[in-house]
Amino acid sequence: MNVVVYAGARMGDDSEYGLQAQRLAYLLAVSGCKLIYGGGGKGLMGTLGRTAIAHGGCTVGVTTHNLKITEELVKEYVSELHVVSTLMERKNKMFEMADIVVALPGGVGTLEELLEVWSGWHLGLHNKPIFLLNPCGFWNPFIDWITSLAEKGFVRSSPLLLPDVYSTADELVDSILVRITSKQ
Ligand code: AMP
Repeated sequence: MNVVVYAGARMGDDSEYGLQAQRLAYLLAVSGCKLIYGGGGKGLMGTLGRTAIAHGGCTVGVTTHNLKITEELVKEYVSELHVVSTLMERKNKMFEMADIVVALPGGVGTLEELLEVWSGWHLGLHNKPIFLLNPCGFWNPFIDWITSLAEKGFVRSSPLLLPDVYSTADELVDSILVRITSKQ
């Protein structure tokens, strides 16, 4: 199972974010899931990559030519590096490889990535599951905002498609494993 994870390039203001990122990467690694992510070494992204590699997992980073990132530079957190030409191509490549999308806490980059896959799903352009890892209720304002757009008549409300929300990495990965089992 290929799991694309969007996550902040910073650690955020609560240690629980980093702990849940670590736990997610560990559980994905020991479950044999491939972690596809931005490939950065900082913040929650770096935590994900380093933890997965440290536990024998496979991580895929997608980068652009102009960043001049090499496998040698990122070997502590990326086991497979893909180099593309543009940021748009980078985002598309990550999404194409994914069976499941997960968003951790993050900033504008994470929000932009999440909104793109959520709007595509809402429009019926794809049916890849979208999971939110929600430590400390991080994503509650996002869910409230989408719900309010439906209440204001700007988003289809029947059905209103919302991502699956999990407070812990353990619950989220259990749900991924149930999907894998039901497909076998
Ligand atoms: P942000 O949430 O603004 O910290 O941005 C993080 C998200 O944008 C990640 O999910 C990445 O896919 C992407 N991203 C932003 N900065 C970087 C970076 N320096 N290296 C790799 N990916 C990044």
